[in-house]
Amino acid sequence: MTTQDSARLDSVFEALQKSEFRQKFRLGRKDFLALKSGGVPVALRHAAAFIEERLAPANPAKDGMQTPMKGHPVFVAQHATATCCRRCLLSWHQIESGRPLAQGEKDYVLSVLKRWLEAELEKNRAPDDPDQMTLLDI
Ligand SMILES: [Zn+2]
Repeated sequence: MTTQDSARLDSVFEALQKSEFRQKFRLGRKDFLALKSGGVPVALRHAAAFIEERLAPANPAKDGMQTPMKGHPVFVAQHATATCCRRCLLSWHQIESGRPLAQGEKDYVLSVLKRWLEAELEKNRAPDDPDQMTLLDI
């Protein structure tokens, strides 16, 4: 990733942090544990397939509704980072609609997801897990 790319990510993540709506998306216990056991690289392989199928076409089917709210850590990451549909890609990431995504744009979306998933993992506790919470409180 170039310096330019990482500066772009910094500013997008800064904006996302100011969005109450985007901040609401956090991994639930099940998705967290799935991510932790599978690891980020596996999640990103799935993400690449979701991007290819659901975002990359010029006019994705059911755009705006193609990404479920839960059921895979990547789906949650997509809503949290506004990479869930072409409309969000346009308004948050300035990626034009109405044409297929370029390879560089697919890679960019992956790098956004990677950053979010790694940050979630770094929190290193499963949500709603009382034992873990107690440990962290000490
Ligand atoms: Zn969206």
